[in-house]
Parts: sequence; structure tokens; C-alpha cells
Amino acid sequence: MGENFNLLTSTQEIIKEALQKLGYDNGMYELLKEPLRTVEIRIPVRMDDGKVQVFTGFRAQHNDAVGPNKGGIRLHPNVTIEDVKALSMWMTLKAGVMNLPYGGGKGAIICDPRELSLGELERLSRGYVRALFDLLGPNQDVPAPDIFTNAQMMAWMLDEYNLINRSQQPAFITGKPVALGGSEGRERATASGVTVVVKEAAKKRNLDLQGATVIIQGFGNAGSNLAKFLSDEGAKVIGISDAHGALHDSEGLDIEYLLDRRDSFGTVTTLFDETITSEELLQIPCDILIPASMGEQISYQDAKTLDTKIIVEVANSPLSEEANRLLTEKDVLIIPDVLASSGGLTVSYFEWVQNNSGYYWTDEMVRERMSAKMIEAFENIYTVAESRRIDMRLAAYMVGIQKIAEGSRFRGWA
Ligand code: GLU
Repeated sequence: MGENFNLLTSTQEIIKEALQKLGYDNGMYELLKEPLRTVEIRIPVRMDDGKVQVFTGFRAQHNDAVGPNKGGIRLHPNVTIEDVKALSMWMTLKAGVMNLPYGGGKGAIICDPRELSLGELERLSRGYVRALFDLLGPNQDVPAPDIFTNAQMMAWMLDEYNLINRSQQPAFITGKPVALGGSEGRERATASGVTVVVKEAAKKRNLDLQGATVIIQGFGNAGSNLAKFLSDEGAKVIGISDAHGALHDSEGLDIEYLLDRRDSFGTVTTLFDETITSEELLQIPCDILIPASMGEQISYQDAKTLDTKIIVEVANSPLSEEANRLLTEKDVLIIPDVLASSGGLTVSYFEWVQNNSGYYWTDEMVRERMSAKMIEAFENIYTVAESRRIDMRLAAYMVGIQKIAEGSRFRGWA
């Protein structure tokens, strides 16, 4: 994040190129190059030692021409306001790719949740909602979990929102516990969505998932569930990594064992003596590589020696621009982040629909509808890429920006 590279500038480049390809003039870019609203807040929190600590938080609302803003809240010590702006723009692209009636939103609080107690986290979550109360709501801006936030935090935030509102507003936030109106399948939704996409990508490359070798970078919510789902499908997960190192076994790792032992921040490699580095893991040949941790993890240097057939981007822009170009030239099929990681957002949308209608779906209904939507989006982007002779990444950005651009034009905003 922040210090490594400028996510905002690279996101603006992407949006500019996609709009140009679609034939929009510079006026549309001027509108969409930054969120319509970005708010910075300071949240005083009484810590367990009795002292008050003031945390800085943000919320960015990219554009609400086609529906409320939608997107997660992340906690991270290095997150910057520029990151949050850029990530809200990514949410617009994801909603566009999945054809959901939302514009992008994103929130963050600068903190290291690993150093906070549960009580401190609760007070921080509630403080975030109090500070932004007027700008959030089921028809304004609907938050959700993101890095280092979970269903419990969504529950505290919902409770705070309902207390201030003096009414039940379950559609205010998604990724809630099922007992509070959360959707079946939301927690595993990102990983389930990636699994659908991996299967489609494997079909396009005539790769049998049975026995296919997979390496997953990142063992958080998405990465760890994905390891489980893909091994259930018969794939061989030969490597995983977390923030501290990586594990490799050419016979396939024991995923159940690792899932049991990972902590809630996705750390598991610290329990093992025989680890390798994340860089070393990238040197190992595999059929499918899945970067599922942070952005810009794979550089041009890494790309030179990568030996894989398919890359499925689950993190936000895990490949540098140069790495993407080189790998595309090498004919690696790259499934872009805005498509691959949209399962969570899609089930969030289902959750919001269920809350608005008051009628709740079964796990199977959620799974089937999500899978159908992911396949539809995959096929759409694949076809645009083939017919325009562009890579799937650019095709996804074009599809992703088109609806919000159209909505904005009709409204007279550009
Ligand atoms: N944080 C997730 C994402 O970036 C989910 C957002 C949501 O469900 O609104 O896609």
C-alpha cells in the first residue's frame, strides 16, 4: 500500500484508457478520475489502559449515478487516503463487471488491529459509524468487511447505526453474522467466486483441475478458503504463503491441517521450521498461480522466471503493469482482479437484496445465483477480449466503467 507504489495514479491510468477505448471524451475522465466525495475523520477511542487514542479514518464514495456506493472497510497501519480513493474506484469497476446497481465506496482506519483488544476494536468500530453516520445508509453507502475486518465488526457497526437511527436497518451493512440478517455463504463468497472463475479459466486452457498444481499467495479469508475449495475440486495446492513466509510440498499440502492452525489474521507459516520465502515460492512451477494477499506482489523481475499457465488475481492489482505485459506476451491467461475477486461483492449484493425484501435465501440458492453471475461476467469479458483483440484485464476495465459512465452521462454529470 501507500509507500510502495501509487495505486491512485495507476487506477486513474486504467480508467483513462478504458474510457478512451469506449470512445468517451476527457470530460468523462474528469468526472471519474477521483471519488465524488472523500471524507477524513478522527475517532477518539478509550483504550483499555484508560487513555484516549485518536485514530484516523476515511470513507471514499466514487460515484452514485447508478445506485448507492458500496465497498468494504479495511484496517491497516499503512493505508493512505489515496489508497482509499483508488480502492473505491476499484469497487466501481467490480460492480460494473458484475452488473450490480452500485457505485464504488471504500473505507479504512489507520491502525494495526493485531495490537487492539476486542473491546478497543468494538469502540473503534462504533466510533467509525458515529463519525460518518450522515453519509452512510442502505440507499447512500453500504459498507462491508475488507482486510482485517470481519462479521463481528459489521455487527457492532450495524448496532451503532440502528441505535442512532432508532430503527432496524439491516441493509445498512453487509457481511454481517447470519443471525443479524447476514447472507448464507457471505463469509466464503470471495473464495467460492474465485473457484468458479478458476474452473472457467481451466476450461479455456483445456486444463484438468484434477491434479492441477496450484500456488496461493496469502492465507487470509480468501486465500485459505480457496485452498480448501480447490483441493476439494481435486487440485493439488503445492504452495501457500502468508506475511511471514511460505510453505511448499510438491505432493500437495495438508490444507485441513493448515486451516485448523491459521490464526484469524491468516498467519500459519510461523508454526513450521521448514519454510521458504514468498519470493522462493514464486520460482516454483505450477499450473495456476493465485495472488491473494496485497497489491503489487509480483514484479517484472518475478514475472521473468514465473512458470505457470493461468494467473487468477484475487488481491487488488497484484501484478505490476510491466509484469502483466510480459506474462500476457508469454500467453499466460490472466484473470483480472475486478472479475476474480467479485464473489464477495456479489453475495453482499444478495445480502442487501434479502434485507430490503425481508425474504431470506438458502445456502444453495446463494451459491447457484452467485455461480451463474460469475460465469456470465466471465463469458462477457472473455468475449469482449476476443472480439476486440485485447487482454481480459483491459476488457474487464471497459465493461467495469461503462455502466457508471452511461449513468453519469444520462444524469448530465459529464
Ligand atoms: N471488501 C470486499 C471487496 O473489496 C467486499 C465489498 C463488499 O462486499 O461491499 O470486494
